[in-house]
Amino acid sequence: MPGPGRHFLQIPGPTNVPDRILRAIERPTIDHRGAEFGEFALKLLSSIKTVFKCSGPVFIYPASGTGAWEAALTNALSPGDKVLMYETGHFASQWKTMADRLGLAPTFIASDWRSGVDPERIRDHLARDTAHAIEAVCVVHCETSTGCNSLVSDVADAIVDTAHPALLMVDVVSSLAAADFRQDEWRVDIAVSGSQKGLMLPPGLGFNAVSEKALEASKSARLPRSFFSWGEMVAPNASGYFPYTPATNLLYGLAEAIDMLHEEGLDAVFARHARHSEATRRAVAAWGLETVCQNREHYANSLTGVMMPEGHSADAFRKLVAETFNMSLGNGLAKLADRAFRIGHLGDFNDLMLAGTLSGVEMGLELAGVPHRRGGVQAALDYMSAGSQSAAA
Ligand SMILES: *Cc1c(COP(=O)(O)O)cnc(C)c1O
Repeated sequence: MPGPGRHFLQIPGPTNVPDRILRAIERPTIDHRGAEFGEFALKLLSSIKTVFKCSGPVFIYPASGTGAWEAALTNALSPGDKVLMYETGHFASQWKTMADRLGLAPTFIASDWRSGVDPERIRDHLARDTAHAIEAVCVVHCETSTGCNSLVSDVADAIVDTAHPALLMVDVVSSLAAADFRQDEWRVDIAVSGSQKGLMLPPGLGFNAVSEKALEASKSARLPRSFFSWGEMVAPNASGYFPYTPATNLLYGLAEAIDMLHEEGLDAVFARHARHSEATRRAVAAWGLETVCQNREHYANSLTGVMMPEGHSADAFRKLVAETFNMSLGNGLAKLADRAFRIGHLGDFNDLMLAGTLSGVEMGLELAGVPHRRGGVQAALDYMSAGSQSAAA
């Protein structure tokens, strides 16, 4: 029994679904081949572009983010194609494993999971690839296993500066609608996303935002694809329909989410996330703990990964917090298992929710006997209240 009051879902996805979106989703499911649906979805397929800041099509699948990864790789590439990938953390590693399984030939640039992509290393690989064998560069924008953000436009610059024809694929599953992302301006060919993080929806939708160049590449790409085929989507999408049954009710929720994002203003949404991320880091620093991300230019808006002091179990700490305070924190993944925990601060989230979250962490540290200094919550409150005064002035 979780007990009274709202559960604090502070994992970095799925995130808290606002009541407004829950109410939008609970409308009756309609005929997805009927006129009412076509009109609704046509508008939605256009308005979702304002979130990706793209002019090309956005394909929406009834799938999780992992399905959208597969859609990106299989539509754009052929068996044995070389792809350049970057080990920012667990999610980048999973995408690379998928590329292996699909019969691609990934080169994986190793890293220590404490920062985002170093674009110079991408530039080096591309500059040495004078035969242009690399067909795609794949990076994760916000690496959700660490809380490190990569500077996507610098990666795009590396491709442009080396005059390399490779496609740029970017995983924006946990950054979309939490940190600025500009598909067209940053010359991204395929952006991969999911519904359950910054978009504030339940899990179940996967996205591919696709450039003209990637659409063109898909016509001659030979990896097998069926369910995820862009080619099957293009014609029905043009009039607001799908080749098979879409997740109708999640699409209602998506339309509501896009309205909410624009009512607040995308820039205000990003600023809110950046502010909560900074407040969280101030708390972590005051506790005397270390963030997983060690590069200040790469701090992510969506979440903060925190290293557990040597000899203490992050999972035991999370279990105690869940049982005592009814709050879920993210676990350490793969090589950070039991060594780190993650505080999600993205989606439908405000100052007092962050204050509650950090209070739960600070009380948990005390209860679990984890060596720390008090005052992390206070440091975050001081930062947030000072910020509010300057915003009001
Ligand atoms: C959550 C996440 C995924 C995987 O998405 P699923 O919906 O769990 O399949 C991929 N990449 C990143 C960066 C994520 O945060």
